[in-house]
Amino acid sequence: MSTQAPGRAPRLVMKFGGTSVADLDRIRNAAMRVKREVEKGYDVTVVVSAMAGETNKLVEFVRNASRPEGANHPGLFDSREYDAVVAAGEQVTSGLMALTLQEMGVPARSWMGWQVPVRTTDAHGAARITEIETTNLERKFGEGLHAVIAGFQGIAPDGRITTLGRGGSDTTAVAFAAALGAERCDIYTDVDGVYTTDPRIEPKARKLDRIAYEEMLELASLGAKVLQTRSVELAMRYKVRLQVLSSFEDVPGTLVCDEEEIMEQNVVSGIAYSRDEAKVTLVKVPDRPGIAASIFGPLARSGVNVDMIVQNIGADGMTDMTFSLGKDEIAKATAALEGEKAAIGWTDIVIDDTVAKVSVVGIGMRSHAGVASKMFNALAADGVNIKVITTSEIKVSVLIDRRYLELAVRSLHAAFGLEQEPAA
Ligand code: ADP
Ligand code: ASP
Ligand code: MG
Repeated sequence: MSTQAPGRAPRLVMKFGGTSVADLDRIRNAAMRVKREVEKGYDVTVVVSAMAGETNKLVEFVRNASRPEGANHPGLFDSREYDAVVAAGEQVTSGLMALTLQEMGVPARSWMGWQVPVRTTDAHGAARITEIETTNLERKFGEGLHAVIAGFQGIAPDGRITTLGRGGSDTTAVAFAAALGAERCDIYTDVDGVYTTDPRIEPKARKLDRIAYEEMLELASLGAKVLQTRSVELAMRYKVRLQVLSSFEDVPGTLVCDEEEIMEQNVVSGIAYSRDEAKVTLVKVPDRPGIAASIFGPLARSGVNVDMIVQNIGADGMTDMTFSLGKDEIAKATAALEGEKAAIGWTDIVIDDTVAKVSVVGIGMRSHAGVASKMFNALAADGVNIKVITTSEIKVSVLIDRRYLELAVRSLHAAFGLEQEPAA
């Protein structure tokens, strides 16, 4: 990365999240930061999110418009129209940011995803960027114009608007940094870096100067929403120098970098959580080869993201199959399973939508045993019951009752001594 061609100005990508562009004052504050970098000689590409709360509002409109007559719950909605609606928030802020920069004497122009274009797959609601055509944008750099990109959106092969999944503006930013060979990708947000856990739940959480791509990837995929998972994946693949910083304070942030660039390291480096999970149990399915494929095949084809899976010990040729997924995917999952009831042969579906997932993450786990048992002991001491467990090389995750989520995060943070600096 950061391949600066001779004779052209160095490039920088600066991304501002929802709280950082929540109103005109904040947009002005963000624009001041952009101006500062422009004055240092960078060609800046600004990526903006929608104003805080705006995307939630748009999602709610879509859900309410898709409520079957008389139903309390929203039904399944057309994901192409979902994208047409929810991409709108970023259109507003990109225009406002370009206007604000112009007012400050910084020549700038806004670009929607389709105008660049940012090409994506057709997986509406969770599309992946396949290519960014930078020729037009680069020509404008040559004319002294800085770019403001509406984050979160792209264009499908058939020309329709797509969105990249919640939090997707981070991914837009990293993808542009990679495509443009930017020197850095700075993610400005409402916290001043990546912490050992969400500082809004544990005030004793400690800011990390650096975090390895792999750990950040794991934390993000387990729910730490400070960076979208896909953005970390891209940064890791294209070696983008990624920084998380505060929009409101001039203090050093967190650098996401290679493991080798980090000197001190705890065994566990962070705790992540995901609040809105659900646990589904298919009761009494035949215990035969192919049963898992007959359940998870249809779920995958419906675009349901299954997380943890447990098959219970069978008796009398029957077994129970339990899995977890995001709470907002329950309708999609039950529709897929109802459609295959005869083929699978289940007798009952039990849904528990009051669970949350807590995970401990650290690359130190590769070489240290005992993390799981320490975790289980800490939760037991607080009387928190564990419903499902999964592990990987660098994480242990448990599903627990949502009521105990905050308690669990805090007690694990203390149990692993995360408020203290690691020994050198
Ligand atoms: P933006 O709108 O700027 O994209 P997000 O709300 O998506 O901001 O992400 C920032 C939030 O992520 C913080 O306000 C914080 O509550 C949350 N968060 C969760 N885990 C962490 C963590 N480990 N470190 C820092 N912030 C975290
Ligand atoms: N506005 C979108 C969201 O709220 C994308 C983003 O903020 O990154 O998910
Ligand atoms: Mg975000």
